[in-house]
Amino acid sequence: MAKRDYYDVLGVSRNADEQEIKKAYRKLAIKYHPDKNPGDKAAEENFKEAAEAYEVLSNPEKKARYDRFGHQGMGGAAGGGAGGFGGGMSMDDIFSQFGDIFGNSGFGGFGFGGQQQGRRVNKGTNLRIKVKLSLEEIANGVEKKIKVNKFVSCRPCGGTGAEKGSSFSTCSTCKGTGRITRITNTILGQMQTASTCPACNGEGRTITNKCKSCAGDGIVREEEVISINIPAGVGEGMQLNVAGKGNAAPRGGVPGDLLVSIEELEHAELKRDGNNLYYDCYINFADAVLGTSVEIPTLEGKAKFKIDPGTQSGKVYRLRGKGLPEVNSYHRGDLLVDVNVWTPQNLSQEEKVLMEKLRNSANFQPQPGKKEKSFFERMKEYFQ
Ligand SMILES: [Zn+2]
Ligand SMILES: [Zn+2]
Repeated sequence: MAKRDYYDVLGVSRNADEQEIKKAYRKLAIKYHPDKNPGDKAAEENFKEAAEAYEVLSNPEKKARYDRFGHQGMGGAAGGGAGGFGGGMSMDDIFSQFGDIFGNSGFGGFGFGGQQQGRRVNKGTNLRIKVKLSLEEIANGVEKKIKVNKFVSCRPCGGTGAEKGSSFSTCSTCKGTGRITRITNTILGQMQTASTCPACNGEGRTITNKCKSCAGDGIVREEEVISINIPAGVGEGMQLNVAGKGNAAPRGGVPGDLLVSIEELEHAELKRDGNNLYYDCYINFADAVLGTSVEIPTLEGKAKFKIDPGTQSGKVYRLRGKGLPEVNSYHRGDLLVDVNVWTPQNLSQEEKVLMEKLRNSANFQPQPGKKEKSFFERMKEYFQ
């Protein structure tokens, strides 16, 4: 799914000033607000898209980065969006922006008056899943389609919980405000306290005729296939947040997020350490002496690899850029090939005779020189 240009999303020119950007966003936020479009997925996506665009274009630093590098420059922090890595804006983030856009009272009419006033909007719970990935999938990034059992909006009632989506009455306890105010007399004088209306649970209205499919909840359990874009370079234990793909909220609220934990499947031949990969390569004694060509596994398939004549056991070859990429970066790790010379353990009589002949040969006497690094130096090289 290609991301739309943030300026196109808000419908402003690249030269638009702060006021124009704010004005354009305010219009879209009102148009696509979930309260005005209950259960409308397309409106919700537009609402989030606009919020994300505004989040970037209203911040001079992020805007400058976006102008220069486009979506690539946004990394995970701001530009993620649905399916992005670690980023994306939750509905809570979006609504917390509104104080800035509408002032503290401006949005009361839509039921999102910030913390002070207004009806409560239910939020769906977050859904947690695990995804197992092979190193090959991690190297390239992958789109995973995953079947999850989750709460979705009830279709017959449009997620409202009311039969045919219309059998409501205004809550008589709170007169539709969702809040009740109590006045208590204290030694300091009269104190006014406001709290969520217990009769309607803060929703401001009650259902007179409950939907038969969902018993008034507005949500039902269903299996849904969710496709998740996993960026290259992720690792064991990392978590991706996919905004809005969690459980639907009761009675037309805001859905929760899908939290995806990454599990890494062990590779048969390669070991991972950060972005580097390690391969233990075993060669025989004659190949170490005479040099040879071996096949080594890489994440792009088998590769031919040349072992120089006279290679010592413990030599490490570094194949630059053949490791794993870093998340949101062009940097790639290396593949380190650790050469082990295999010493034969069972010899035939004939082989023994040959070895006896070679044993005292001058060239077979160890002569470690400057070229041969000590174990300690090799370890240093390994971890540089
Ligand atoms: Zn009420
Ligand atoms: Zn229903």
